[in-house]
Amino acid sequence: MDIIRAAHLGMCFGVRDAVALALEHADAGPLTILGDLVHNPTVLSALEAKGIAVAQDVAGVTTQTVMVTAHGTSERTLARTRALGLTVVEATCPLVDVAHRAVAALAREGYHVVIIGQRDHVEVRGLTGDLDRFDVVLDEADVLALDEHPRIGVAAQTTQAVARVRHLVDRIRRRFPSSDVRFLDTVCKPTKERQSAAVEMARQADVVIVVGGRSSNNTRELVTTCGRYCARVHHVQTDADVRPEWFDGAKIVGLTAGTSTPDEVIDRVEAHIRLRVEELG
Ligand code: SF4
Repeated sequence: MDIIRAAHLGMCFGVRDAVALALEHADAGPLTILGDLVHNPTVLSALEAKGIAVAQDVAGVTTQTVMVTAHGTSERTLARTRALGLTVVEATCPLVDVAHRAVAALAREGYHVVIIGQRDHVEVRGLTGDLDRFDVVLDEADVLALDEHPRIGVAAQTTQAVARVRHLVDRIRRRFPSSDVRFLDTVCKPTKERQSAAVEMARQADVVIVVGGRSSNNTRELVTTCGRYCARVHHVQTDADVRPEWFDGAKIVGLTAGTSTPDEVIDRVEAHIRLRVEELG
């Protein structure tokens, strides 16, 4: 049995830089991260081990310094946090900033903003937090529920599957043929690279293992994407989740991982698969 890795997989520069910034600030003094810095339990435990606190809301912050995650936040939230006298460190990924600027430009130019993404995801809340009126869509039913506007400006959560985003933009255009529908593609490059590499890998594999946090959006998108090309796809958080029976009769096992998955977690999963398969003989 062979194990093939997707050509692009695992932690992106945005998450890597955010984790490094958190560790650097933790060395300088007590730090609280607002929300999960990344949706990966292994990374979160490493931060906890450094004494870094996590608060889901500013009300729960007990340190002078707070860090905004790689997912970013709205200007309104930043202003509210600073007004409390807290020092804010921003670990916002530059590609999330690109999405913020795209949304701001659409709103400034008079477009009604529609975000393709998960309504309750921290990044989407940040993208929409400075808007008074907007919509968030994730499927065709959401598109059907939209009201008509003369100008509709569409942007996407950075970790959405490109194929879904293009499909929904097309549905919006068909539903409102007389509206001016402008689409700014804000799905980030690392997400696109991981998705297309996952497709290439899944086409060849008998079994696909996707490594990443259960609540990581881009990891779940990889599971869905791979499922279109391979019938046997499994999502694991760590090597402990791997089951030997998944590999029965498999000749090629494909491996990919979400953008918040550290290299060492991927390496351990790969080593574990090899071990299980050798045990099976
Ligand atoms: S997934 Fe994309 S937008 Fe999010 S942190 Fe990584 S590079 Fe930045």
